[in-house]
Amino acid sequence: MKIAMISEHASPLAALGGVDAGGQNVHVAALSDALAKRGHHVTVYTRRDSPELPERVQVGGRFEVVHVDAGPACHIPKDELLPYMGLLADGVANDWSQRPPDVVHGHFWMSGLAALDAAALDAAGRPEQDYRVPVVQTFHALGTVKRRHQGAEDTSPPERRWLEPGLGRSADRIIATCSDEVFELKAMGINTGKISIAPCGVDLGFFSADGPAADRQRRHRVLSVGRLVPRKGVDLVIRALPYLQDAGFDDVELMIVGGGAESGALHADPEVRRLLDLAEELGVSEQVNLQGQVSRGEMPGIFRSADAVVCAPWYEPFGIVPLEAMACGVPVVAAAVGGLRDTVVDHGTGLHVPPRDPEAIASALALLLDNPALRAELGTAGKRRARTRYSWDRVAAETEKAYQLAMAGATAGAVPMEGAAL
Ligand code: UDP
Repeated sequence: MKIAMISEHASPLAALGGVDAGGQNVHVAALSDALAKRGHHVTVYTRRDSPELPERVQVGGRFEVVHVDAGPACHIPKDELLPYMGLLADGVANDWSQRPPDVVHGHFWMSGLAALDAAALDAAGRPEQDYRVPVVQTFHALGTVKRRHQGAEDTSPPERRWLEPGLGRSADRIIATCSDEVFELKAMGINTGKISIAPCGVDLGFFSADGPAADRQRRHRVLSVGRLVPRKGVDLVIRALPYLQDAGFDDVELMIVGGGAESGALHADPEVRRLLDLAEELGVSEQVNLQGQVSRGEMPGIFRSADAVVCAPWYEPFGIVPLEAMACGVPVVAAAVGGLRDTVVDHGTGLHVPPRDPEAIASALALLLDNPALRAELGTAGKRRARTRYSWDRVAAETEKAYQLAMAGATAGAVPMEGAAL
C-alpha cells in the first residue's frame, strides 16, 4: 500500500517533552516505521517549522518525512495552525501529482482537515478517474473532552467546535485509540460503524526491563514523565508527597521528566516555576528532582530506576508513558481516565486512582513502596501485557485493517468537507 500520513504539528523528527511534542510524534514515527516494515510505502507530511529543514528526509531507510511550506518556517503553537491547513493541503496534493497514495491518514483534527482537502484537490485534478483517496482519521485528542476539562483555559480555535465533528462525519474511517474515545465520538454524532480501535504501541526492543538502570540517590524513586502542561497533573504527584511523609515514607524522590527545555534552562518555563513554588510551599522541595527534557535514549534507564511511575492526568486520550513503564517492568499508578483505563489493569499491572486525588495517589504509592513483592508481580504482568497487546507490529496490523476497510468503502468522487472553508 502507498500510505500518506499527515501530522501537521507533530513531526516524527522532533525532540520530545515540549508543550506540543509528545505522544503524537512517537505514534506517527513508530506507526510509520512498523507499517514500512510490513512492506508498505509510507510518507509523512508535516509543516516546515524551521528554514534549515530539508524538503525530504529518509528516516532509518524505511519511511520518508516531507516538510511542507505552510505558513512561517518557525515554531507556531499548534492551536494557531488552522489558517495554514489550506496551504498544507496544497503542498500535500501537489506531492501526489505523479501518483496519489492508496490512503491518507490524518493525525489530530487539523491534519484531518488537510487530508480531506488534499484528497478533494487531488480528485478534482483527475476528473476522469471519479475516485477520491480515502481518508482515515486518528484524533489523538478531542475538543469536546478538552473543553470539558480545561474550560476557559482551552486555547483551541473556536472553529474546532464544528470542524472536528464535521471531519469525523466526512472521513471514511476513524481510528479510536481506546474504548473511551468511541463513546466520545458517538456523543459527537459520529457513526460508530465506521470506527476501528487501534491503540498506540510501545517499542518493545527499546523499552524493556533488561538493561542498566539510572542511578538514584534516595531509597525510593517515584517517576513522572510527560509534557509539562497543567492537565498532566504533575502538581498532584507533588501534593501526594506530604501524605506519603505522614505515612512514614520520607526517603522518596519524585523525579519529573519533561518540559520544553533541558535542565539548565528550566527555570524560564512558567509551569516549572509553578511546580517548584508548590513544592516549596509544601516543604518537599528537597524531594523533587526536575530533569527537564530528556532524550529518548535515556528514557529506558530512567524507567528502570523507578519503583513506580505515576500518571495522574485530568484526562488522557491514550498515554504512551504507562506502556513504556509497563514494558520496563515498572508498576503504574494511573488516574482512571481515558486510555489509561484500557492500558493499566487495576491490581494487575498497576493501581487505579480517582482523577485529581493526591491522597489516593499517596495511598497507592504507599502500598507499592511498602511491598516489593507486589511491585515485582505488577511489573511482570505489565511486561507481559505490553508484549502481548501493544507491539507496534500488532498496532500496524490493526491500522492496516482500518485502511483496507476505508479503501473498500471509499466514496466515489470528491466529497467536500461539511462546512469547512480552508
Ligand atoms: N518523552 C521523552 N522525553 C521527555 C518527555 C517525554 O522522550 O522529556 C516521551 C515519553 O517517553 C513518551 C512521550 O514523550 O513517549 C509522551 O507521550 P504520552 O502519550 O504519554 O503523552 P502526550 O505527549 O501524548 O500527551
